[in-house]
Amino acid sequence: MRIDILTLFPDMCNSVLGESIIGRARQAGKVEINCIDIRDYTLDKHRRVDDKPYGGGMGMVMAPQPIYDCFEALCRETGCKPHLIYMTPQGRTLTQERVKELAKLDNIAILCGHYEGVDERVIEALEPEEISVGDYVLTGGELPALIVADSVSRMLDGVLSDDECFEEESHFNSLLEYPQYTHPSEWQGRKVPEILLSGHHANVEKWRRERSLERTFFRRPDMLEKAELNDKDREFLSKLKRD
Ligand code: SAM
Repeated sequence: MRIDILTLFPDMCNSVLGESIIGRARQAGKVEINCIDIRDYTLDKHRRVDDKPYGGGMGMVMAPQPIYDCFEALCRETGCKPHLIYMTPQGRTLTQERVKELAKLDNIAILCGHYEGVDERVIEALEPEEISVGDYVLTGGELPALIVADSVSRMLDGVLSDDECFEEESHFNSLLEYPQYTHPSEWQGRKVPEILLSGHHANVEKWRRERSLERTFFRRPDMLEKAELNDKDREFLSKLKRD
């Protein structure tokens, strides 16, 4: 998969994407992620990419021309029209379900707004999917774009190692994950649950499944509606009671 991030701050994105699991995956060629500087496409002789909003008001608005030309150049370079996403607090909130769908695409481009956002006409012209990372406002779309790039990349084959499997993680199957522990087996008087030290695989699995169901029941009961539950799960849940 190839992901292109269209931004005024490519260094901000590159520094994050060069680290840890995604950094290694990029180096190994498991995913290609490019950070493209929208400013390189401005036709303004002073390299300006934004201006004051018509109608007055605070802040600056990103102009349509550099964004449009940047995306057009990307289409020419890739020989296709990447699925374009505009990061905006006005979009649909990102979910793991959407992440899984996006991970099936070959090319994604992510447009980061900044300042007061982008001129509406370029949104009308490019018709991107609008995605939000939550009901709050950030200074720019770079952090949200990194969230999309990271969450999508880790779904790709070979990005996570076998022991970093994502299938039991929170949200993958509409359940929250069970609690995790590592060495030492006792810390500040708190002991790791005995069953996890037992080496009894089936009992550990049962314990984890029940903790996962329990956590979801108490913290995010809304998620249980979509979870795939078997008879044993339902029986276990039927015994739980909220205060
Ligand atoms: N004036 C815009 C509004 O009220 O809808 C907010 C602009 S925000 C300060 C600047 C940029 O940050 C946006 O264009 C968007 O790209 C990004 N952004 C801010 N909050 C976001 C969120 N919750 N999800 C996705 N992108 C966000």
